[in-house]
Amino acid sequence: MKIEILGGGPAGLYFAALMKRVAPSHRITVHERNPRDATWGFGVVFSDRALEFLRADDDEMYRYLTPHMETWQHLTIVHNDTRIPIAGNGFAATGRLELLTRLYDYVERLGVEIRFNEEVNDLAAFAGADLIVAANGAASWVREQHAARFGTHCDWRPNKFIWYGTTKAFESLSLTFRDTPHGVFCAHHYRYSPGMSTFLVEVEADTWSRAGFDRLSPEETMRHCERVFATDLDGHPILSNNSFWRNFPAIWNERWSVDNVVLMGDALRTAHFSIGSGTRLAMEDAIALHKAFAECGEDVPAALARFQALRMPPMKKIWDAANVSLRWYERMGELMKLDPWEFAYSYMTRTGRVAHEDVRRRDPELAAAYEARHPERFAAA
Ligand SMILES: Cc1cc2nc3c(=O)[nH]c(=O)nc-3n(C[C@H](O)[C@H](O)[C@H](O)COP(=O)(O)OP(=O)(O)OC[C@H]3O[C@@H](n4cnc5c(N)ncnc54)[C@H](O)[C@@H]3O)c2cc1C
Repeated sequence: MKIEILGGGPAGLYFAALMKRVAPSHRITVHERNPRDATWGFGVVFSDRALEFLRADDDEMYRYLTPHMETWQHLTIVHNDTRIPIAGNGFAATGRLELLTRLYDYVERLGVEIRFNEEVNDLAAFAGADLIVAANGAASWVREQHAARFGTHCDWRPNKFIWYGTTKAFESLSLTFRDTPHGVFCAHHYRYSPGMSTFLVEVEADTWSRAGFDRLSPEETMRHCERVFATDLDGHPILSNNSFWRNFPAIWNERWSVDNVVLMGDALRTAHFSIGSGTRLAMEDAIALHKAFAECGEDVPAALARFQALRMPPMKKIWDAANVSLRWYERMGELMKLDPWEFAYSYMTRTGRVAHEDVRRRDPELAAAYEARHPERFAAA
C-alpha cells in the first residue's frame, strides 16, 4: 500500500511504525512541517495506566520508550501553602522532543521516509495514495476543510492556559493552586528530565482579564507567573518555547474518515491535558487503525469502518472523563474555598471514575481526612 501520513506527531509516527513493522513492502511517507530538532511545548506525562496499554499491545515499543522516562509514585496537590501528597498515583514523563526523536529513529530504521520541513496544505499532493492519514494535530486543516463530512464539533473552553517549562526539577507531579488578588492561578508541573520540568499555567477567563494579560508582553507575562509561583519555583526561571495563552478546543468527530482520508490523534479528538492522556490516545488510535487493517487486509473502506467501530467505545470513555476534568478546572476559584483536604479529595474524584473505595485503597490518609469531615456519610461503614 502507498500510505501518506500528514503530521509527524505521536499518532502519525506510531501508525507508520506499526504498519511498516508487519508489512515492509508498504510505501509510507510522513510529512512534517517542523524541522527534526524542534517541537512545541516541553514534557508530557503519562499516568501509570496510560502506559499499560502500550505494555499490553506492544511490549517492544514499551521497552524502547519507557527506560528513558522520569517516574514517580505520588502526586502533590498544593492549596496555597498546604501541600498534600497523594499516594497510589504512578506517573511517567518524558520530553516531547525526546519522545518524537526516539519515534523518528525507530520508524526510519524500519524504512519509513520522514520529510521534515514539509508543510502540506492540499491533499492533491497525495494523489495516488491508497490511504491518507490526517494526523496533523488539533488544528488539522484537513478536518476543518471537510468539517461537514466529518461531522466535526469544536467546543472552545473558556479557561486560558500557557505551556511553559522551568529548570526546577520537581519531585512529583504537582498541581499548585494559588490565590492572588486577581483570582486563582493553577500550575500543572512535573519533572520530565533530570534538570527540566513542564510548568503549565491555567487560569479562569475572569482571572486572566483581571491580571491584564491581554496587555502584557510575553516577557511581562512570564515575570507575572514567576511572581505568583515564586515559592514553588525557588528562584528558578520560567522558560518559554513559543509559549502563548490559548483556549482549549474540545474536539469530536461523528465520522472519522472521508473517502480514503482518516483522522487520527488530536485531529480526531482532543483530550484535556489535565488527564495526561492525549499522547496515549493518539498512540492507541494508531494501534486500533493498524488492527483494523490487520483484520481487513487492503480493503481501505472496510478497514476505516472497522477502525471507528473498534476504537469508539474505549476512546469515548476517556474523552468523556477529560471533559469532566476540564470543567473542574473551570470552577477552581469556587473550589479553592474548600479546605485543602476537601479540595484534594474533590480533585481526586473529579471525573467520577475514582470512587471513595479507590481513594481509600490508594491513599488511606486522604480517605480518612474526608471521612472525618463527613461523619454522617460514613456512619454505617
Ligand atoms: C498544553 C498541552 C499539554 C499537554 N500535555 C500532555 C501530557 O502531559 N500528556 C499527554 O499525554 N498529552 C499531553 N498533551 C496532548 C498531546 O500533546 C497530544 O494529544 C498529542 O501530541 C497528539 O498527538 P498527534 O500526533 O495527534 O498530534 P501532534 O502531536 O499535534 O502532532 C501533529 C504534527 O503535525 C504537524 N503538522 C500540522 N500541520 C501540518 C501541515 N500542514 N503540514 C505538515 N505537518 C503538519 C505538526 O507540526 C505536528 O508535529 C498536551 C497538549 C497540550 C496542548
